[in-house]
This record gives sequence, structure tokens and C-alpha cells, in this order.
Amino acid sequence: MDKNKYLRVYTDCYLVDGDNGSLIYDLSRKKLLSISQTAYNILKEIDGKSIDSIISKFGNEIIKIIDYFLMEEVCFLTDSPTSFPKISEDIYFENECYSAILGIGTSTNYDYIKVINELNQLGCQMLMLSFKSDSDITSEEILNIFKATTNSFLRCIDVVIPSSFENIFSKDFLNQNIRICSITYLGSEQFKTEENKFHVLIKRIKDEELNWTEKIVRANFTFSLKSFMESKKYNIALNRKICIDEFGFIRNYINHQEHFGNLSDTSTSISQVFRSPEFQKKWKVSNDLIEKCKSCKFRYCCFSNTDLHYSNEKWYKVNSCQDFESVKENAN
Ligand code: SF4
Repeated sequence: MDKNKYLRVYTDCYLVDGDNGSLIYDLSRKKLLSISQTAYNILKEIDGKSIDSIISKFGNEIIKIIDYFLMEEVCFLTDSPTSFPKISEDIYFENECYSAILGIGTSTNYDYIKVINELNQLGCQMLMLSFKSDSDITSEEILNIFKATTNSFLRCIDVVIPSSFENIFSKDFLNQNIRICSITYLGSEQFKTEENKFHVLIKRIKDEELNWTEKIVRANFTFSLKSFMESKKYNIALNRKICIDEFGFIRNYINHQEHFGNLSDTSTSISQVFRSPEFQKKWKVSNDLIEKCKSCKFRYCCFSNTDLHYSNEKWYKVNSCQDFESVKENAN
């Protein structure tokens, strides 16, 4: 190893420590690497130093550790350590609204076409259409809903629908509705997940309804440079999200208790609610501000729509993970 070189941790690899251990978030390759507290401290200290000075401080044994992190491509050797500035943590959102969920059931009497148009004006990117099993909606109405999405800004539509409507999603229909990313068929005979030739994820579940209570599992963690930066300042699940349940109540998430008005009240405007400080209050409650989560090594990738409650000047998640260790098992 050339002792005149300097060691640098890659700028897209972030060291995060918590009460439950330490991690390297490798954001370009979307992976987590578990490291010991000692390795965390050492990496923090040797980043930007010359190999010569590192060996002087830690002895020759440190070379094994450096070799390991070079092999894992967490760090690299360079002649010019100052040429790699930190990535800016400033975050900029192109669209006001990122995602929305519309619940549609027998009791639904809001105008979904109008709602979709309003969401489009807010620049909504992701839409989940959740048709309940008891919905008395007709195939024609469903087709009209999709028609309303045709010229929208939407990038992805997830559909949850009783399997009895499967015939709607024909080859021609999927060819025309290329924004559909996934379809979950409720009340299927078997549980199965597959990607069809239109790159639409088809999930078949036996349940008649979707269970909105999420489990905190590794599969729900999200890794990207943008979501990492967002997670430092925002609640990545709730930020810029709006949900309208089957009864027309506007909520931060479909199963939250608190609501912010009902669409049956003609004076309720989606954009007005969406832009109100009351509605946006939980958007900025990042994991760094939530008890337990703030000392968890997964706090910058844990994606959870769970409701939050505030008590004695502290934020808590209503549904948190059982314990750190169970999540750790899922993560490794
Ligand atoms: S819910 Fe659990 S895994 Fe997620 S950030 Fe909080 S403590 Fe960590």
C-alpha cells in the first residue's frame, strides 16, 4: 500500500451510528453494510488522512481494516483528498405533491375525476387507486377514472382492485395505460407475485381488503441519495402525500385518525388543505425527531406511514418496530 496516498470515504457512502449498531449507507449501490462501533470510529477518523499518518497512529494492524473497506469499495486512495467535497444536503422538490391514495368503496360519493384533476394541478407523481371489495363501482366508471389520468403528470399508478375486475386489465388496456406500475388483485384464489411482460407488477392476495397497518421490515426501507437527504429533514413516508379515504375524508395517510375535512363539504378544496400548515405538520417530523427512531441506525432509510403522536414535547410513532433486533434480522 502506497503510504504517501490519502484515504477517502466515497462521498455517496454515509456512516450512521445508533444504539443498535453502525451502518454504512452505500447509496449508489443501494446497500447497507453493518460495521462495528470501533470500525465506525476509525473510519470517521481516518477519512482524508494519509496512509502514513494513519499507520503512525493505529499501527500496521490498521492495514487489514483499510484493505477490507477498499475491497468493499467504501473508500479509495488518492493523491488529492480535498478534491472530493461532500454532497450538498440541500433538497429541492420539483413537484408540490409526490403521492396520493384514493380509497373507493360503496360509500364513496366524491367526484374522483375532479380529485384526479386537482391532484394533477399539484403535480402529483404517484397515485394509488384502492377499490374496496364492497365497491359497487362499474367497469365503465373505472375506465373513466383511468381516462382522467391519461394527460396527467403521474409517473406511476398502483391499483388495488377485487379480482372480479381482472378482465379490465387486458393487453390493450395496459398498452394504453403505461403509467400503471402495479395491480393487486384482492380475493384471489392464491397468493402470487409476478411481473408481466408490460413490466407491471401483478400481486394476487387472498385477503378481501388491504391491510394498511405496515410492518417495519427491510423490504420497506428505501435507499437513494435523494431519499437519504430528504430523511434528514422530513418524514419520507408522509412528506408531500395526501390520502382520501372511501368516505371522502382527507388524511395524511389512509389509516390515520386525524382528518382535515371531507370532500362532501363543497367548500373543501384539496389544494387548500394540502397547502395548510396543519396538514403539513407531520411532514417535517423526521426520524431524527422521533423517540426511539432518533437513535436507530436505520433512521435514514426506514419508510413508515404510521401515524405520529406528540406528548410531553416528544414525538412517537404509533406503530413502531417491535425491537431493533427484529429489524436487524430482516436487514441482513
Ligand atoms: S421504526 Fe424501528 S427501524 Fe424504523 S427508524 Fe424507528 S426504531 Fe428504527
